[in-house]
Amino acid sequence: MSHLKQITSFKPSYAPSIITKWRSSRTGLQLLLVEQERATVEGYFAVATEIEDDSGCPHTLEHLIFMGSKKHPYKGLLDTLGNRAFSNTNAWTATDSTVYTLTTAGWEGFRLLLPVYLDHLINPTLTDSACYTEVYHIDGDANEKGVVFSEMQAVENEAEEIAGLRARKILYPASSGYSSETGGLMGALRVLTNDRIRQFYHALYRPDNLCIIVVGTVEKNELIETIAKFDDELPTLDEANPSHRPFVDTESVPVLVNRVIESVEFPDKDESSGHVLISLLGPSILDEVTNTALHCLFMYLTDSDVSLFRKAFVEIENPLCTEILSYTDDFKNVGYNLWFQNVPTEKLENLPGQIFKVLLDHVERSEFDLRQMQDVIERERLQFTLSAERYPSTFANVGIQDFLYGSIDGKDLHTAKQLTEYEAIREYGIQDWESLIRKWVLNPAHVLILARPSAKLASDIRKDAKLQLTKRRQELGKEGLQKLASRLKIAQDENETKIPDELLFSFPAPDPAKVKFIQSVTAKAGLALNEGTVKNEIQDIISKDNGEKFPLYLQVEHVKSNFASISIIVSTLPVPQDLLPYLSLFLQNFFSTPIVLDDGIEISYEEVVKQLKRDTISDQYSSGFEGEFEELLTFELQFVPGNYKQAIDWFQKLIWHVKFDVKRLQVAVDKALLAIPSLKRDGSVVTGSALRRLLFTPRSAKRALDDLENEQVWRQLGTDLKNRPEFVIDRLVSVRDHLFAAGNLRILVTADVHQISNPVSSWHAIVKSATGASSSSSSALLAALTPVPRSSVNVNKGLSGTAYLLTVPSTESSFATLVAHGFTDFKHADIPALAVATAYLEAVEGPFWRGIRGNGYAYGANLSRSIESGMNQFRVYRGADVSKAISKAKQIVNDYGDGKIEFEPLLIDSAISTIVGALAEADNSYYAAASRKYLQESIKLLGANSTGKFLASIRTVTGSQLQAVANKYLKPLFDHQTATVFLACNPVKINELKQEFVQLGFNVVIDPFGVIEDDGNESGSGSEEEEEEEDDDDDDGSEESYDEYSDDD
Ligand SMILES: [Zn+2]
Repeated sequence: MSHLKQITSFKPSYAPSIITKWRSSRTGLQLLLVEQERATVEGYFAVATEIEDDSGCPHTLEHLIFMGSKKHPYKGLLDTLGNRAFSNTNAWTATDSTVYTLTTAGWEGFRLLLPVYLDHLINPTLTDSACYTEVYHIDGDANEKGVVFSEMQAVENEAEEIAGLRARKILYPASSGYSSETGGLMGALRVLTNDRIRQFYHALYRPDNLCIIVVGTVEKNELIETIAKFDDELPTLDEANPSHRPFVDTESVPVLVNRVIESVEFPDKDESSGHVLISLLGPSILDEVTNTALHCLFMYLTDSDVSLFRKAFVEIENPLCTEILSYTDDFKNVGYNLWFQNVPTEKLENLPGQIFKVLLDHVERSEFDLRQMQDVIERERLQFTLSAERYPSTFANVGIQDFLYGSIDGKDLHTAKQLTEYEAIREYGIQDWESLIRKWVLNPAHVLILARPSAKLASDIRKDAKLQLTKRRQELGKEGLQKLASRLKIAQDENETKIPDELLFSFPAPDPAKVKFIQSVTAKAGLALNEGTVKNEIQDIISKDNGEKFPLYLQVEHVKSNFASISIIVSTLPVPQDLLPYLSLFLQNFFSTPIVLDDGIEISYEEVVKQLKRDTISDQYSSGFEGEFEELLTFELQFVPGNYKQAIDWFQKLIWHVKFDVKRLQVAVDKALLAIPSLKRDGSVVTGSALRRLLFTPRSAKRALDDLENEQVWRQLGTDLKNRPEFVIDRLVSVRDHLFAAGNLRILVTADVHQISNPVSSWHAIVKSATGASSSSSSALLAALTPVPRSSVNVNKGLSGTAYLLTVPSTESSFATLVAHGFTDFKHADIPALAVATAYLEAVEGPFWRGIRGNGYAYGANLSRSIESGMNQFRVYRGADVSKAISKAKQIVNDYGDGKIEFEPLLIDSAISTIVGALAEADNSYYAAASRKYLQESIKLLGANSTGKFLASIRTVTGSQLQAVANKYLKPLFDHQTATVFLACNPVKINELKQEFVQLGFNVVIDPFGVIEDDGNESGSGSEEEEEEEDDDDDDGSEESYDEYSDDD
């Protein structure tokens, strides 16, 4: 008999879902089901984890869970089965919980994996050899290794980590789990024992401390049966001796009495800018109204160019920082944090005082803007509603928080039925807001962390690492090292027990045909009809609104959604090359500029930003479309369908009524320059930027938009804006005219067409502005649409054989990208085989995974192909030993290419299934599915049902075809005659890497951008600073509540 008792069930008023929760009366196990229409089923298995130290037990355990269960003692079984069942497993560890995830295309695969996964959680093997390889060990060369150790090594010296941990250690007493680094500090990981991990496991991984959350379309009865069966095998909860509920049953922490200001240092050679963090403690997490009010208050202070703090510190000449992020720690009492990014070092000291003064003045001078706050509240409510519709994680997070801190009778969860908290705070008057600010922000004690860059620290860390290595080598001696090498080998062999084929075959592979992909309905107007006509009910609506005579290009993707979006996609090709350097500035200015209307009335940028936010849910521009075709630009507005006409009006005003204002432009330039040092601190940014700047010609927009490429451009623009502003403005006008010429516009509308009126004729004003025609019925039809530009034509020739080495003093890890020429035809016959070969080699627990990650050479390694640019890539992410990672990958590819190792049929099936799963996941909401359909069918011109055709084609791929593509396309990635290497590493490693690449036959170029300064200390490696690169983080003050150490690659 099932002990699962339903404790609550309801339909949220704002999202098409049903939420039901059960709890086992016998074991305390919890199950939460969120029924939503999706192609994937997602599982989140949450464990509350409270620990008083920085040992990293929660995080190491997260890794060890995947190393095998008592019933299934095979490392990687979950991943291997997952590969067969269109599934993906992952996990993250936060300060207060570890959450394991399972994403599957369709219910069938989910049902198959669920019991096996849960068995891993409740019966893991936790062997010593798994702990040895995964957590920490010293290898035969005396290097410190271990998957978790390397992972933490890569982040421990980042400014955000250092400042965030320090703030928590001040805000919470040492005995509080909230002050712990649950990821594990390097020093603590070195001495962590498996016994300690096991002890932690037994204390926390109990049925009553586990909540299973499932989101998607499931067979409900089968789900309940599966969980009930799992529950039956669990030990009975001892009611007489109730377990301690992590955090909830722990005594509350004393409130900080005095304000604390502290400086921390982070390593960086460039000492020009640091950061400021403000942390304070808010109300109980169960006080939803006050927390929503505080959340909206912090948005009011930071979320747009006209917010109080941004106006005071960012949107000024000589800004005091480049970005202000607000985020929360969703603990028992919610922690509120403000992060001021890239503060000029000499201004660090004074900034905190200014921040509080600005806020105090705002209150004391009664300047609180109630109207603006009302807009913020409405926008936040809509954004939550949108994410509840679009992302499975939204309700999963609601469920996790409720599991961690809510009452176990489901009462607190039930408040998710309605968004009444937004209604409540809409009633707040100015006085209510002012007293909220005083009570929770101005009056309480808080923590201020000034994060300062230190060149000395960077050099000390480097020297110390060298010293320790030498010391270890000496102390261990040859014999000691040999012992360690063989100990590691034994542990690895123990971990690698082969999974018996019978076991794998005992799980029937699910039927791919049962995976239901989401479909949007396409309709076309104007020039879009030239790409082929369609017949359906939506097309009838479009045609009735004069769609055929529409003089521009318009495509509609009809979806089931309460939200709509418009994207205007333009080619950069019509922009003359000498104007490309103005592109970045043009984009930065786009959504935050003054405008002048036809009647000559000027609207300030503040008003533009405010009104735009009122009418829309989000505004953004991006390079490319859906992350591809980076010679395109996309401008997008999202809004509720009722605001369709307003959204179109906004585009018309922002494009054709822009007033380029010298002051606004100067601010954009100052901000961009201030942000550059922090970009140069990120190894993956540095590598990506070097690739764009070196591999592409100056004709490429991809290169022209690279932030580090633009460092000199910005400086010049700053000078020009002072000396000859008209010159700059003329060029920006010219950029606008080229980008938004009638024949260069592709308009994509994604919406429930039944919810918008006049889908075509609403574009009247834009037609007029773009074509100069007096009315949209004018048959001034366009001659032709600009073709979609390809970056493949902008690839520099003759780079093959070169290895570009760049240095990043602030990182311990290395990052590398190897590229070689591929093909540019989206219908190329080798695509299916190359897709399968790639999925095969980089599968979780596949050849790269085991050979590279498993040996501790790097956290991740993957292959990708860009048909758009005609380049294939191999990428090493967070490398501990990047040259070993590369040579291992080379050996693997050669072995498969030469036929020394054969592609196994079972694993080919798994690779195919991985592709199915990835596609379902990518298309997981109507919005995402519609965008990808547009990319496939209208940008790549693959025609209708391209996904279906692709899925059919990969099923016929054979082993010999895989071998052929490995030889043809993958071997060249590792061959010095065909490959180009972009690599970023700590300066200490540069000479060694140089020699290694020279030996491989590469022509090595160190510091290709010639920024060399003498390092001044040690070994005279002539190391240097590098450039880097593109931030697409249009940070919206995301409220990610924890440090994640996720295992994705
Ligand atoms: Zn991890």
